[in-house]
Amino acid sequence: MASLKKCIEQKCKDCCYDPMDTGTWRDQVEKCNVRNCALWPVRPMTVATINLQRKVKGSAVDVDSLVAGLDDEEEEQEVAPA
Ligand code: SF4
Repeated sequence: MASLKKCIEQKCKDCCYDPMDTGTWRDQVEKCNVRNCALWPVRPMTVATINLQRKVKGSAVDVDSLVAGLDDEEEEQEVAPA
């Protein structure tokens, strides 16, 4: 059974990832600007952005609380464009 985190990642990837565009799927999902989407506050982001948000006092999104308790049993793999 897939974890909640993996389900969110897959949904966002299916929604907006374009292998012909620049950046990884996380880069592209991070740039999603559909703020009225229910998944927007918990959409996957790059590690660099997560670390930056942790350093910013008063960040709008408390990343630690969002990812707490979510499983991450699989390593992320990028699929090269065909
Ligand atoms: S947050 Fe953005 S990429 Fe993720 S499902 Fe919503 S609209 Fe799609």
